Amino acid sequence: MNLWNRLMCYSRRRSPWLFHMNGGSCNGCDIELIASLTPRYDAEQLGVRLEGSPRHADILCITGPVTHNAVNAIKTVYGQVCGPKAVVAIGSCPATTNVFIDSRTLDGPLNRHIPVDVFVPGCPPRPDAIILGVAKAAEILAERAAKKIPIDPVVMPLVGPPCNGACACSTPNAPKSTEEQP
Ligand code: SF4
Repeated sequence: MNLWNRLMCYSRRRSPWLFHMNGGSCNGCDIELIASLTPRYDAEQLGVRLEGSPRHADILCITGPVTHNAVNAIKTVYGQVCGPKAVVAIGSCPATTNVFIDSRTLDGPLNRHIPVDVFVPGCPPRPDAIILGVAKAAEILAERAAKKIPIDPVVMPLVGPPCNGACACSTPNAPKSTEEQP
């Protein structure tokens, strides 16, 4: 690898630029992503920056369970991010469609349409979990640029206290009880 490529790999790992896209989320994950960039969590201190155009970004961050309306937009935006690129699925929705699993408006999960590199679980995931997921994606990006090899998707561990069962997502795929079934 020549000096220019080594410099590019170093920059990508040290300062990944993100483009955020909402694939039909409830906005919970979007709020946490923005919180990760605020001074309290301060992802920008690590070189992470939110970009307004996918053409300037290295990493595509997608939230939401992927609605029919969002599919074409997601594919278009994925094509607009210059390679090498990485995709981070933020929250349980893009990974499994979560609480919206039976909705007829959905065409998820996300990896049916584009390759996903990092899954950040949680409903919503905490900002520190999102920062860890982005850091992992930056690592994958640099490795991909250096070796040009396929890299398997990574599922990040849950960060923070376990779900207390107070929200609707606590048992999204659990079979219905016999009383509820027709
Ligand atoms: S994972 Fe939870 S918080 Fe995030 S979009 Fe889905 S329902 Fe909303």
